[in-house]
Amino acid sequence: MNLLSNADQQEIAKFDRVSRMWWDTGGPMRMLHVINPLRSAFILGQIELPRPKILDVGCGGGILSEALAHAGAEVTAIDLSQPTLEAARRHAAAHGLGIDYRYMSVEQIAQEAEGGFDALTCMEMLEHVPEPSEVIAACARLLKPGGQAFFSTIDRSLKAFLFAILGGEYVLRLLPRGTHQYRKLIRPRELREWAQRSGLEFTAIASLLYNPLTGRFRVAPGKADVNYMACFIKKR
Ligand code: SAH
Repeated sequence: MNLLSNADQQEIAKFDRVSRMWWDTGGPMRMLHVINPLRSAFILGQIELPRPKILDVGCGGGILSEALAHAGAEVTAIDLSQPTLEAARRHAAAHGLGIDYRYMSVEQIAQEAEGGFDALTCMEMLEHVPEPSEVIAACARLLKPGGQAFFSTIDRSLKAFLFAILGGEYVLRLLPRGTHQYRKLIRPRELREWAQRSGLEFTAIASLLYNPLTGRFRVAPGKADVNYMACFIKKR
C-alpha cells in the first residue's frame, strides 16, 4: 500500500488555501478556536499521566496541539498540508513551544513508531479522508497498550446536514462553504465499529452543542449529537 494514498488531495488543497489564517481567531478556522477549550478539557480530563506522549493526527495549524503542549504533554503532530504545517511551526516557535511537527501520513508514522504513544488525538479530520477506518487502524497501532485515542467528527444524519452544512456553512456562515461533504460524515456507530475492529475499547462520548442565540458551545457528556467526540482505550 502507498502510505500516502489515504489522503484526498482536494481536501488537503482546501486547507493549503487557508494556511495563513489558522491563528486568526476571527477567520475561517474560528470555530476550532471556539471549541478548543471544551475539547481540550474533555481530552485532558481523561488522561492521568502528568507528561503524556501524545500524537496529534491531522493537526492543522496546531490549535489543539498547542493546548496539549501547554498542559505539559510531549506533542508530536502530523498533517499532509505543507503550508499549514509551516504556519503551525511558526506559531509554536513564536510561543516557545517545542512541538514536533511532521509532514507525514498516520499510516507512515505507524510504521516507524508503533506503540510509541500514551495518547492520540485525531479531531475533525476523519471526515476529510477516503478511508477513515484505515486511519483508525493506524492510530490503534501507534498506541501503547492501555493508551487512549480521541476522535471527533460530525454525524451523518439529517440533523447534522441541517445544522452543520446548511446552517453552519450557508445560513450562519460559521464555517467556510464546502468544508463538509455529507456523504463523508461519520455515524457514531460506524466510528465505534471501526475502533472496535482495531482493538480499541469505547470508554466515553460527548457532544458539542451550539446555541445560535448566544454563539456559544457547551459539552453534553454521554450524548452523540451533530459534532461528537469519543474516547477509546487500546486493549492491554
Ligand atoms: N485537528 C485539527 C485540524 C482539523 S482540520 C483541529 O481540530 O484543530 C483537518 C486537518 O486534517 C487539516 O489540517 C488537513 O490538512 C488534515 N488532513 C486531511 N486529510 C489528511 C490526511 N489524510 N492525513 C493527515 N492530515 C490530513
